[in-house]
Amino acid sequence: MKSQPSFIDLSSLSCQHLRGVGQRIAERLARLGIQHVQDLLFHLPFRYQDRTRVHCIGDIMPGNHVVIEGEMVAVSTPKGGRTKLLCRLEDRTGRVHLRFFYLNSLQIKALQVGVRLRCFGEVRRGMYGLEMIHPEYRPAEQETVVAIEQNLTPIYPTTEGLSQITWRKLMTQALQLLDKDSLLQDILPSPILKKLRFPTLSEALHFVHRPPVGTSIDLLLERQHHSQKRLVFEELLAHRLSLLSVKNLFQVQQAISLSRSQVLERKFLESLPFQLTTAQKKVIEEIHQDLCLARPMLRLVQGDVGSGKTVVAALSVLQAIEHGCQAAILAPTELLVEQHYHTFQRWFEPLGIKVVVLSRQIKATLRQEVLLDIATGKAQVIIGTHAILQKNIEFSKLALIVVDEQHRFGVQQRALLREKGIYKNNYPHQLIMTATPIPRTLAMSMYADLDCSVIDELPPGRIPVLTRVISNDRRDEILTRIHEACILGRQAYWVCTLIEESDMLQCQAAENTAMVLSAALPELKIALLHGRMKAVDKVKVMHSFKEGDVHLLVSTTVIEVGVDVPRASLMVIENAERLGLAQLHQLRGRVGRGAIESHCLLLYQPPLARFAKERLAVMRETTDGFKIAQCDLELRGPGEVLGTKQTGDISLRIADLMRDSDLFPAVQAAANIFLKEYPERIPLLIKRWLRDNTRYGQV
Ligand code: ADP
Ligand code: MG
Repeated sequence: MKSQPSFIDLSSLSCQHLRGVGQRIAERLARLGIQHVQDLLFHLPFRYQDRTRVHCIGDIMPGNHVVIEGEMVAVSTPKGGRTKLLCRLEDRTGRVHLRFFYLNSLQIKALQVGVRLRCFGEVRRGMYGLEMIHPEYRPAEQETVVAIEQNLTPIYPTTEGLSQITWRKLMTQALQLLDKDSLLQDILPSPILKKLRFPTLSEALHFVHRPPVGTSIDLLLERQHHSQKRLVFEELLAHRLSLLSVKNLFQVQQAISLSRSQVLERKFLESLPFQLTTAQKKVIEEIHQDLCLARPMLRLVQGDVGSGKTVVAALSVLQAIEHGCQAAILAPTELLVEQHYHTFQRWFEPLGIKVVVLSRQIKATLRQEVLLDIATGKAQVIIGTHAILQKNIEFSKLALIVVDEQHRFGVQQRALLREKGIYKNNYPHQLIMTATPIPRTLAMSMYADLDCSVIDELPPGRIPVLTRVISNDRRDEILTRIHEACILGRQAYWVCTLIEESDMLQCQAAENTAMVLSAALPELKIALLHGRMKAVDKVKVMHSFKEGDVHLLVSTTVIEVGVDVPRASLMVIENAERLGLAQLHQLRGRVGRGAIESHCLLLYQPPLARFAKERLAVMRETTDGFKIAQCDLELRGPGEVLGTKQTGDISLRIADLMRDSDLFPAVQAAANIFLKEYPERIPLLIKRWLRDNTRYGQV
């Protein structure tokens, strides 16, 4: 220690107080978000090496990281190649080669026949049997059996300019501080620790940074040791509490209490050509109850593709309108905005409700008019993309915001939404509808700030889509099939996908495919739809497809979300092996919406890797979105399922939503205990784990 204050709080003690930490090291630590000694202690090893014992050379296997000791029996300098020095090391049990690439002349001199060496490195299979490439080594004086290290050696995630040796030195000091009277508060109260049989914070930290001899490295690598679990638990708890704090903050706000719509609801339901499903009714009931309260609703509606979320949104909107308020409906794409505009106009205009759309394609003069209608309250339902919230659009009396087909909608965006449309201190109610079901475990951690409803039933009469996985070699057969189907009056989608991020390449691919297909199927009316087309043209194409004037729609993944053309019953998806399951499910959800049996053909480029085969098999075997989402989560992890942007929102340091999902029930229970009994500890916990907690509001 450079200075020795009498009372040391490690959560505010700068790392610069540690020996060996100057400006440069401090900057490098800061790159990893490490400022205080507390941060350092929570920087955990990502793997461990066992240098606690010397292995017999006869026992080592490829892939092992081990310490060995033996005598140099041969040294050579191979001609050609990168190898500078090739040595043979032997003990009583076996022999191994050591291969060095970079050595200076002094080092070469030291590596002579007859010298005893102790080496540490990874064992590999080489040209002459087992070998170690560039091991760490030092001369060993005599044959020895004493342990060389007392603990497993931790390996830390690092950045340029910070060696493992530096990390170990810093950790040693940090752990020493932890042992002294310094303060690193154990925020978890002892009843919780006892109940879960977790060690104290200090015990856990000592353990993970210095696991004693004999600890199973496998257990540590799987992050299953109690000490690791305890720390992960703390982090998950911090996140849950931060989301709950946001929710609690929001719920003390005021909102307009919207009493249940009587007239409009009845009229609307009478005009619908179908009955609501039990699941739809249940969810609408939950929403109505929220809307009656004088605090803002924050509800997530989860429902599989085609479960009928739009009607649920419509009924919520009616409650706002009957009360003399406005409702905004946000959709992620212009295409969907347009579709919603038509749907809501069709549904609401007969009821005397004014629906307006704010999209890029409306002309400037008309736009002014629409904006005026929104400001005066003449426009009752406003439909647009999220852009309408960013621009300074003035609402007259906005009481409800519906966010449709969006689950990649992070904490930050939700916070932004809250601030919009505040009317005389009244916050708008919020209804968020997912594009894809979210596995329960993920929903629990990502959406702890929302109440959740699930539409767990499809409208009756739906026939599950039959899915086949087909090699690209068999395109001819597919063309025949499309031809037959379209001649019989059916409609089809052909979805072009590319792995390239480039939007342009995707559009080009779609253009080419449309040309090839037009040449091959001259009797069919084929249209093209992609993201680079003008909004007006997109809408035109979509319209004629909807009207049945187009047989085959060749498109990019712009149709992924929400598009509803019940008559389309055949879908071909190219390069299906490259897409995530959730995305395939979304795409496939564009067919199977009517009463005819639909087919989905997943094209792949052979040969198909085993992993890809498994994934496509999931698509073939089930149409249950919740099951598919769970598989996707297991196969690809939460980052892919939710979109990396959003997982960035909760950027976990040591926890892993998949691996640690077994902790969720305990985390949930503990969060409730904290809120009731230890509210004063919550800010400490959040500060410890959420480095940048500003985006969570004033928590
Ligand atoms: P999603 O949940 O994917 O957004 P939509 O709201 O687009 O689903 O509904 C899919 C289709 O099912 C639409 O054509 C819609 O009119 C229809 N639909 C919705 N609810 C019912 C119902 N209860 N019975 C029959 N059809 C329904
Ligand atoms: Mg929808």
